[in-house]
Amino acid sequence: MTEPLHGRRRGILFVMTGASGVGKGTLREAASDALEDVVFSISATTRPRREGEVDGVHYHFLDRAEFERRVAEGSMLEHAVYVGDLYGTPAGAVDAALADGRDVLLEIELDGARQVKRARPEAVMLFIAPPSLAELERRLRGRGTDPEAKIQKRLARARDEIRALREFDYVVVNDVLEPAAATFRAILTAERARARLLSDVQIAAFLRE
Ligand code: 5GP
Repeated sequence: MTEPLHGRRRGILFVMTGASGVGKGTLREAASDALEDVVFSISATTRPRREGEVDGVHYHFLDRAEFERRVAEGSMLEHAVYVGDLYGTPAGAVDAALADGRDVLLEIELDGARQVKRARPEAVMLFIAPPSLAELERRLRGRGTDPEAKIQKRLARARDEIRALREFDYVVVNDVLEPAAATFRAILTAERARARLLSDVQIAAFLRE
């Protein structure tokens, strides 16, 4: 049985992957019209907080022992090591939103994205690509938040992620913001219009004479 039984469809799980510095956050904000009603998952991380970041808003900042405790108790949907720190998606908030019919967007790196795809094959996988690695390097340096060694590691990770690009359903090249945001909005809109998501109640409404 593929069609939902209830009046409300389940939410769609969107996974967005792309190097840090590629502009995922900016793109998300620029596409915020289409993102109305989307729940952004707040990840947990052991990385130090950057200036301006707020605990519980940008991330749940945890120490390593607490992070590992949560992994052990099975409360993370996925987790991965990224440039020396742990990052993970708390499963509870994601599942509650999906069950409630709300779409959820995860912004996670490649290892985590693969774990989600294995656990939830119906997830819609988006990759945000920089126009080039040279441009990504320029943006990472311009941001000025990371020491040189970390920038190099982040660039190496970006290269590996780009090589895995065909594992994703969609790619958005974040070169010029507005066309990239338009593509992003179009993907979300199209995925939300998939006929297989219709519930019995919605179909019954179309059949009303
Ligand atoms: P940043 O330190 O720049 O905030 O994030 C570094 C990388 O970790 C980015 O590629 C970001 O998408 C990824 N990331 C953030 N949250 C999560 C998460 O919950 N799980 C995984 N696997 N990666 C994450």
